[in-house]
Amino acid sequence: MEFRNASRISAIVSLLLTSPLLAQPTPIETPQLRIDVLGRPEVLWRYFCKDSGQAFDISAPRFEVDGRDVIASLADPKPIGSPRTLPNGVAEYRYSGVFKDDPSLSLELIFRVPASNPVVRFQYRLLSTADHKLTKQKGKDNIEYLGVLLSRYTDVAEIRLSEFYELPHTYKPADVPVLPRDFENGQRVMGPIVIGTNGAESVILAYEHGSQIPDAFVSYQLKPSKAVSLGGVKGNYYSGQQLDAAHPYGTVWMEIGAVKGTRFIVMQAFRTFMLRHQAIYPESRKPYIFYNTWNFQERNHDWKKGKYLDTMNLERMLTEIDAAHRLGIEVFVVDAGWFSKTGDWTVDSTRFPDGLRKVKARLDEHAMKLGLWFTSKAAVSSRMLANHRDCIMTTDGTPHGPAEVWETEQSYVMCMVSRFGDAFAEELIRLGRELGVRYFKWDAFDQYGCNDPRHWHGTEGNTAPERSQSYSFQVPEQMARVAEKISASLPDSIVDFDITEGERAVGLRFLAAGKYYIINNGPYYYSLDDPQLAPGGGMGANVLVFPGIARAVNARFILDYDRWIPSVLFMTHYLPDDPEYSQWINLGSLILGQNGIWGDLPAVSEEGVRRFSETLSKYKQVREDITAAYPTRSGEIGGTPEVHEKINPETGKGAVVIFYNYRNAWRQKGPYFPGSFRYVTRLPVAKEAWHNGVTVAGYDSRGRAILEAKFDGPGAKIILFGAK
Ligand SMILES: [Zn+2]
Repeated sequence: MEFRNASRISAIVSLLLTSPLLAQPTPIETPQLRIDVLGRPEVLWRYFCKDSGQAFDISAPRFEVDGRDVIASLADPKPIGSPRTLPNGVAEYRYSGVFKDDPSLSLELIFRVPASNPVVRFQYRLLSTADHKLTKQKGKDNIEYLGVLLSRYTDVAEIRLSEFYELPHTYKPADVPVLPRDFENGQRVMGPIVIGTNGAESVILAYEHGSQIPDAFVSYQLKPSKAVSLGGVKGNYYSGQQLDAAHPYGTVWMEIGAVKGTRFIVMQAFRTFMLRHQAIYPESRKPYIFYNTWNFQERNHDWKKGKYLDTMNLERMLTEIDAAHRLGIEVFVVDAGWFSKTGDWTVDSTRFPDGLRKVKARLDEHAMKLGLWFTSKAAVSSRMLANHRDCIMTTDGTPHGPAEVWETEQSYVMCMVSRFGDAFAEELIRLGRELGVRYFKWDAFDQYGCNDPRHWHGTEGNTAPERSQSYSFQVPEQMARVAEKISASLPDSIVDFDITEGERAVGLRFLAAGKYYIINNGPYYYSLDDPQLAPGGGMGANVLVFPGIARAVNARFILDYDRWIPSVLFMTHYLPDDPEYSQWINLGSLILGQNGIWGDLPAVSEEGVRRFSETLSKYKQVREDITAAYPTRSGEIGGTPEVHEKINPETGKGAVVIFYNYRNAWRQKGPYFPGSFRYVTRLPVAKEAWHNGVTVAGYDSRGRAILEAKFDGPGAKIILFGAK
């Protein structure tokens, strides 16, 4: 009796401690978490993890307004309206409160809360009813988005998403420990993800932006108390930026999520959040099989000494569509050259006299989708340019362009951080409606380059470097905003952002609106320090363009992202070319999530076509499971063996792929170096399976499969659990 009373009292005490309810607005609650909006400087709101009992006091943002620091200490914050359900099923809650020491300012808090995931996405908007300005008294950004204490965690790590590795010529993620000495010495880390764990409970923090490491625009400041704050480094606003009723200031989007359990549990939760809950429209997360014409255009240019656009015509496209359909491809992307001019994006009528109508009809026959290539340029003679001359990207007054765009008319580069962005969106939406385009490939969007005072990133009153910084800061936000506008009009469309070169806005923000296209071929000759641009042997300046092991290994490096961000968001094309061992390597690779194919499709052997067609039809039976599955890998990428497991714990369906990455077919002298491998799955599996040479030697008492695979040379063995 006494015991029960004591526990009741302690429950009441803890309730009082964690939620001083009476004067507070209704909290947000899901089975995982509770959010209380308190409005105090040290606790603007509190995130409470029900499973572990961890509570996080999120401190209020700080801004510099009219030369003074203002902290969002809010009088009586209240919910605005009732929550609404977004197209992805996530509930959006809005709160608002007036600043205690300046009633002309108020803060709006926007929370996007999934019903079944602990990760919450949130943003603030600073609103004003008076004529204010954002300022930089000390000549640099003075803005802090949040602060939170991480003292309960023994292990903290920074997850970098945008380091560019020149050797493989791609971005790759990095998992970097944040050590006690980093906190003690007040280091800054760029993230954008920070994970804390003590083994029993874990937390993840993130912000949505995008730039190449080490060029930080936003970063975490570590403090000796083991607190971290997230704040602006540069370009987050420009000095004198208007803040009034017509010009609110929106912060970057941020995430926090906490779980009971190890960092592995919180990584899984974050990955699922990225797959199901971050983007409002889910189309970019669907594991279609994609094709792009560019590789064949390059083969024609570099190997046959033709032009990139020689094969850009109706007859060849119809042939490629039929070949793509036979392989199992579902989204057919026509790359550069389909248009007569950029900006207006009219179909080139000499290449496609019927304006792509036959192409679309043939795709419809095969239930395939049409994708097209775009860039943020406008041709000299375009209506777009005539109406948007003020939006040309300029550096110190010098326009970028005009220059030829892949053998088409001379064009200017246009600034996405100007009114051009909306006009670009309207053009693409028009093509979606008129031609049925459902995949928009965005190429050559650089993070740097505009300091024009007529756009949205600073005025004549700012310095040119400040306008440049504001431009670069806003690029990922404006690109995502435009992509979201397209998705709002065409919800079944996908926008991809080509990040196959450095200095692109890589981070979490664009992924809320679309996906990345991450690797073309990997390294150029210069990536390998070869002083010649294109010495021959490869394809132009590209080295890894042949069937076999090397190109596929290089492309699989990005599967490391899959631990935080689903691999379906990192499209890469693999090669369908014969011989057989290469086809298995490329099939085994692409089904792990990158899902792209390119090359000379009509030249693939009949046997190869059957191999792709059968494997991909089996894959399609379990692809939702593979996409949902958290990745497990045994062995390094490029090592032998390299084993990938992607099994959905809820169904036991999914894939195991085993790679043998030693030598290649023409270096094999004989079966002197065979390889036999055994692998026990991490998760129990569905009993029914399709495979190309993996033996199920048995199952353990928990239903995990004991697999054996035998190789007599390089290749990949695939087993698809749950496929009939
Ligand atoms: Zn600009």
